[in-house]
Amino acid sequence: TRLNSSGLLRSQGLIAGKWTEAYDGKVIEVTNPATGDVVANVPCMGGRETNDAISAAYETFSSWSKTTAAERSKCLRKWYDLLIAHKEELGQLITLEQGKPLKEAIGEVAYGASFIEYFSEEAKRVYGEIIPTPLSDRRLFVLKQPVGVVGVITPWNFPLAMITRKVGPALASGCTVVIKPSELTPLTALAAAELSIQAGIPPGVVNVVMGNAKEIGDALLASTQVRKITFTGSTAVGKKLMAGSANTVKRLSLELGGNAPCIVFDDADLDVAVKGAEKEFKMDAELKYLREELTLLCKTSEEKTSPYSSRDRAKLGTKFRNSGQTCVCANRILVQEGIYDKFASAFSNAVQKLQVGDGFVDGVAQGPLINEAAVQKVEKFVQDAISKGAKVLLGGRRHHLGMTFYEPTVMADINNEMLISREEIFGPVAPLLPFKTEEDAIRLANDTNAGLAAYLFTTNIQRSWRVSEALEYGIVGVNEGLVSTEVAPFGGFKQSGIGREGSKYGMDEYVEVKYVCLGNM
Ligand code: ADP
Repeated sequence: TRLNSSGLLRSQGLIAGKWTEAYDGKVIEVTNPATGDVVANVPCMGGRETNDAISAAYETFSSWSKTTAAERSKCLRKWYDLLIAHKEELGQLITLEQGKPLKEAIGEVAYGASFIEYFSEEAKRVYGEIIPTPLSDRRLFVLKQPVGVVGVITPWNFPLAMITRKVGPALASGCTVVIKPSELTPLTALAAAELSIQAGIPPGVVNVVMGNAKEIGDALLASTQVRKITFTGSTAVGKKLMAGSANTVKRLSLELGGNAPCIVFDDADLDVAVKGAEKEFKMDAELKYLREELTLLCKTSEEKTSPYSSRDRAKLGTKFRNSGQTCVCANRILVQEGIYDKFASAFSNAVQKLQVGDGFVDGVAQGPLINEAAVQKVEKFVQDAISKGAKVLLGGRRHHLGMTFYEPTVMADINNEMLISREEIFGPVAPLLPFKTEEDAIRLANDTNAGLAAYLFTTNIQRSWRVSEALEYGIVGVNEGLVSTEVAPFGGFKQSGIGREGSKYGMDEYVEVKYVCLGNM
């Protein structure tokens, strides 16, 4: 296949521009979740390799941070072009190691690449300021400078995009990085790193290590040369990284778990709400991940820059409208009493059409879950809900395909005390919770430690404002389930995280503000 001959199948770490094995020769297997086949062995690295990667990033920082914004911009633009030129091979890699349907995987490549494009442009706009002076013999300036070496730790759900939305702004501002991708999906990260080299990004600017997550994490935390940690993943690990950063007072960006409510009011347009909830059903699952793919697939306004031909886009759009989507879901769908029954049946009908299978098979909308533990977690949550009085409207069990496939599931009569509404499910289950009043909906929606994304469906303008303001969430979609884009800030309130990714706010995370006072004028 093109993938085999593309030079993108890398299975070593990248330290100071050199492809590197683990120093003790140990490896870990990367498997295809749809078949269980081992697709590659990658090095099982630890503290020593990480320290060498940090040294490389630290040394390179002194030259990379001094390049002009225009030079960095050109490198990033080249990287973006290469990512897009190889979107099919990268998509195949994502499907191979992560399981999502190929079209969606290719969608992730385009979405992931969009951050590199956006920050290649933004690199040129990291402006300082001149502050009007209170004393006539002085001038006051604000400079923006890169933070330094950044440790980038990412999950498996979005093997490319979670990396690019961190590394894009980091490199644009002049930082260098040590990336630790998920051990479940390292191949996409390594391919992206290979393309960064081809793009002319100097050796040592992008380093990749993988293996023993705790050892690598501890090495990053302990180093005084690492000035920032940026992380997407579980809240539990995020808290460890936050605590571990205290000793060296590192800057932190954290994108942690969510528990997104989708509120459907009686006055919602049923069609819009079902379609929107479906998007979230798919989306919220891999909470911060799938939303982006879908946004991309549905974009119609970017004829020139879109990596899809218009025919492709039409096909994808149709597939999307027919609910041809993957779904690994974790949100709560709160539905007002008056519309509850109608919504439940319309929504179940829509979800029923999702085709489950190997992501390489045409027409498949939902791939396997990442591993057996993920399925067991879903089973535990579904059983807990049933034992507390919830009803299964659709699915509710493993798929006959076996492996880690699970049936798209809709559950009714969920309440906020069940595990399924307290924790992130990461499985294709949509729990429906009935509510009476607007106040009830807001209270239920906010009754969680998470605060990433929330959605509401209503045709009442005043209500849409009231509820948007009342929701303790970093992202609110009103009559829209697909809100994520590289040009808007993405991030959470409460225990969903710190900082924002994408947009001009995403750049702020990678710069220090320096005040310079020039006296004795
Ligand atoms: P997910 O459920 O999305 O995999 P995790 O938080 O377990 O979430 O994993 C996200 C990333 O954090 C992965 O790259 C994982 O290897 C890494 N990770 C897990 N434990 C640690 C740790 N103690 N220190 C640093 N990174 C870790």
